[in-house]
Amino acid sequence: MKALVLEEYNKFVYKEMPEPEIASNEVLIQVKACGICGSDVHGMDGSSGRRIPPLIMGHEASGIIVKKGLDVRNFSEGARVTFDSTIYCGECFYCRQGQINLCDNRRVLGVSPGEYRQHGAFAEYVAVPERILYRMPEGLSFEQAAMVEPVSIAFHAVELTSISLNDTAVVVGAGMIGLLAIQALRVAGCGKIIAVDIDQAKLDLALQLGANEGLRADVVDVPNEVRRLTHNRGADIALEVVGNTAAVNTAISSLRKGGELTLVGNLAPTVEFPLQAVVTRQIAVNGSCSSCGEYPACLDMIADGRINVGILKTHTAPLAEGAAWFERLYNKEPGLMKVILEP
Ligand SMILES: [Zn+2]
Ligand SMILES: [Zn+2]
Repeated sequence: MKALVLEEYNKFVYKEMPEPEIASNEVLIQVKACGICGSDVHGMDGSSGRRIPPLIMGHEASGIIVKKGLDVRNFSEGARVTFDSTIYCGECFYCRQGQINLCDNRRVLGVSPGEYRQHGAFAEYVAVPERILYRMPEGLSFEQAAMVEPVSIAFHAVELTSISLNDTAVVVGAGMIGLLAIQALRVAGCGKIIAVDIDQAKLDLALQLGANEGLRADVVDVPNEVRRLTHNRGADIALEVVGNTAAVNTAISSLRKGGELTLVGNLAPTVEFPLQAVVTRQIAVNGSCSSCGEYPACLDMIADGRINVGILKTHTAPLAEGAAWFERLYNKEPGLMKVILEP
């Protein structure tokens, strides 16, 4: 089969690779669409340590089952499916209580952090276990289904946050996950959603997708503006979707006393944390990792239009041209959001 292989850091080669063998509990999927994730782009130069070459990346995908193992019961050949980015074991302490995103033996598709190498879906075929499969709703396109993974990450963060009807939410970072979180917060019943970014084009998109306000962190004093918009109190909840000191502090300073912060971004391994402010203002803090069973809800909401992923997909291209698209994303070409590759 043909695959896009990261042969060494910053070097992709589109080449012939052996077709994956399937275990008895696995299916072979003919990949129809696979999105390039920000973590793939960060990983290609070695800086994240999670894409050690040689590797076939790709964990945001959809396709058709073309072969199944003897023990696969609930899916047949020809089924249109998408799948979790995480292969969880189903048997450890965490899996047994439903926290599959925290699985002790988790392997992420298209990732090789050293302990394992799990080839992903930038290929004609990928093998995955039945337990991580999800059926695609009627009418959902392969491209839409390939975008369910980032949607599920946004949903998981929103689900972890205690939201009351009409709450005011601040979302720091209006990239892919931030823009999906804004839509999820709208569905969850927030009254006012304030998007924060330094890129006006992203804020414009945020406003189009349901944010009430878009604040430029490089132009205005965000916490002051948020207080002005919230009876001088501050926001009830905040989502941080960047992952650096400035963004974390902006999110915390924008909250009212007793507010709740959910951290999703994790660009920097450590940040400066305003300990006294968090303690004395009694801010609750959540970390949100990946997603945990939100796929079916997300697929439904993409299918019925409550979550708009189409507007975030800026390009679709053949997998053979993947190397050039990775480079354009790596160079942060303006206007590029989600790029989907088709084998
Ligand atoms: Zn991803
Ligand atoms: Zn497990």
